[in-house]
Amino acid sequence: MTVLVPLTLDEALSALAASPDALLLSGGTDAMVEVNAGHRRPSVVVAVNRVSELRSWTYDPIGATVRIGAAVTYTELMEPPLATLLPALAEASRTVGSPQIRNVGTLGGNLGTCSPAGDGLPVLSALDAVVHLASARGERSLPVHEFMVGVKRTAREPGELITAITVPILTGWQGYAKVGVRNAMVIALASACVAVDMGARSVRLALGSVGPTILRCPDAEQFAAESVDFADRRATAAVVARFGELAAAASRPIDDHRSSAEYRRHAIGVLAARLLRRAFPRE
Ligand SMILES: Cc1cc2nc3c(=O)[nH]c(=O)nc-3n(C[C@H](O)[C@H](O)[C@H](O)COP(=O)(O)OP(=O)(O)OC[C@H]3O[C@@H](n4cnc5c(N)ncnc54)[C@H](O)[C@@H]3O)c2cc1C
Repeated sequence: MTVLVPLTLDEALSALAASPDALLLSGGTDAMVEVNAGHRRPSVVVAVNRVSELRSWTYDPIGATVRIGAAVTYTELMEPPLATLLPALAEASRTVGSPQIRNVGTLGGNLGTCSPAGDGLPVLSALDAVVHLASARGERSLPVHEFMVGVKRTAREPGELITAITVPILTGWQGYAKVGVRNAMVIALASACVAVDMGARSVRLALGSVGPTILRCPDAEQFAAESVDFADRRATAAVVARFGELAAAASRPIDDHRSSAEYRRHAIGVLAARLLRRAFPRE
């Protein structure tokens, strides 16, 4: 096995151009599990976590966006100033694995794996993030929902890597919640992100672990936008309950070794209602 450790984006793209099917390795917290289990046997590995361009982030106050390099870790996302700009992403990051996993695990790796249970992904969905890809052929950018194709399937092509993720900054409350079999070191059985956009008077809702990939909930979003009081941050108990029902109805869970579909659907209703109540604390 050849392991290449490029230090610049150009070096990484050249390495990938020579070996388009190389295994990209960032923190390795998913990739090494697959290698150790024998599910992947790469002849070439391109480790991208020392590529300086992928390790940094920038805030554009005029465009109201943050561009996060693919190799930025959860630990970095949990701390200000990133945590202040993107509180739901920080909240999701705090739920990932253990400190050891959060110190090396990256947002780019979460997208690269594209598990429906990936904790960063419902937040990227609710915030309408854009994924930037590069190869020796050039660059392209995709809305996150075009990038996430299915269970552990993405639109990434051979020779491409994720360089960064652009995340719009919304004014309004945002939060993330997940349910698992315990409170830490746990894969989500169900997860949800609610993000309020005060400018557009909209409420975004994205669900994890209850479909082949992350799901947005247009019916629940429209209902909330028409039913809450944005100025006073009010929602009646009936509105909160109905929002939970619409979220549960939008979920498409399966039975598997971790949970029944019925429990997952119930959990989604509870999580969505709980998040809407946090966003609109007054009755
Ligand atoms: C003990 C443990 C606990 C965990 N707990 C959680 C959890 O609570 N929540 C959660 O969401 N995940 C969890 N994970 C999974 C994992 O930590 C996350 O998915 C993490 O974000 C992966 O990032 P990474 O940098 O380690 O990716 P890697 O393992 O390096 O890569 C993951 C995949 O993405 C690809 N990839 C990496 N970088 C790029 C890039 N720049 N461009 C394109 N493709 C790329 C790789 O080829 C690979 O297919 C856990 C893993 C372990 C081992």
